[in-house]
Amino acid sequence: MIYLDSAATTAVRREVLEAMWPHLTAEFGNPSSHNELGASAADALADARARVAVIFGCRSSEVVFTSGGTEGANLAVSGIALARPRGRHIVTSAIEHPAVLESCDYLERFHGFEITRLGVDRDGLVGLDDLAAALRPDSTLVSVMYANNEIGTVQPIAAIARAARAVGAAMHTDAVQAPGSLRLNVRELGVDALSVSGHKFGAPKGVGAMFLASGTPIEPLIHGGGQERGRRSGTENVAGAFGLAVALELADQSRAANAARLSEARDVFIRDILASVPSARLTGSTLSRLPGSASFIFAGTSGESIVLELERRGIVCSSGSACAAGSDEPSGVLLALGITAELAQTAVRFSFGEGIGAAELAVVTGELQSAVATIGSSRTN
Ligand code: PLP
Repeated sequence: MIYLDSAATTAVRREVLEAMWPHLTAEFGNPSSHNELGASAADALADARARVAVIFGCRSSEVVFTSGGTEGANLAVSGIALARPRGRHIVTSAIEHPAVLESCDYLERFHGFEITRLGVDRDGLVGLDDLAAALRPDSTLVSVMYANNEIGTVQPIAAIARAARAVGAAMHTDAVQAPGSLRLNVRELGVDALSVSGHKFGAPKGVGAMFLASGTPIEPLIHGGGQERGRRSGTENVAGAFGLAVALELADQSRAANAARLSEARDVFIRDILASVPSARLTGSTLSRLPGSASFIFAGTSGESIVLELERRGIVCSSGSACAAGSDEPSGVLLALGITAELAQTAVRFSFGEGIGAAELAVVTGELQSAVATIGSSRTN
């Protein structure tokens, strides 16, 4: 199998599973328990937090463990907006993950917030002029994703954060697609909150981490025993947090080399597909793009059919994001790029990392060319 769906999820890395094992077995204590097992679980959690803090370039106390990217985005958007009496205006982009967009919709419907959803250009980039025009004295939060999960476009987060903070708004970035590809230093990015999800970089599903700058007021969404300094109650997923920390370290250690290797392979892949499949058009940016991301539309075909045909040939990819796939709705991200609903149904996303290089991508190019031809001829028959 050639796996090109790593934006949807990744396998747990062996080193991560091995690091988690003791915390699932012999050292199974509850970090809040006043006994030895509890103390060793609390130590493991503190260790995990410190290690994540090194990668984020922040203090340990500014790391909150969550259940994943969806919870992180909900906590950042709703938690910050509800806790800041400053104003009821939020700025986000039209191409955010539903975790952010639906949080904004919720605040609009139930809490009287006004939401500005910034459009993007043909490459999927938020315009800094549009952002400047949208920001107001009552803007309380800006939430713009670091990199898009469908088209791989990487946003200029530091510049966006500077503009947000200049008017006194807090800045959150959904960085779920960034680990292993982009730098996560929150001081360089200048953000107040940043969220990641373990299963996108070799840790298990159902664990995430978030940076929340000290002093940022937050209204918790999960109420209970006051764990995570009152920001997220619930007995901590010690093994998950530990696994996430190890996976984040591994992703960061190989980030620079991986990004260089994958970008080079990706550019050849894109060039070869555009040259060999006449109906192919790249979606997203050529310049500001995740190293392991290539996404296309194939006019006159169907994205679903291509994905099925490639799967038959041992290649796993996706016709859109994992969340949008399986729904008949055209992707909101592609519509925001100015792509028609009809063409959006022809989208295919290839996302790749560990174990994928030029050789595998060359095989995919060949199979794709033949798959599109097969589908085309069966459509005209
Ligand atoms: N944000 C982005 C950009 C994503 O790609 C995803 C997952 O697809 C999420 C948030 C949600 O993360 P999780 O699956 O951990 O809830």
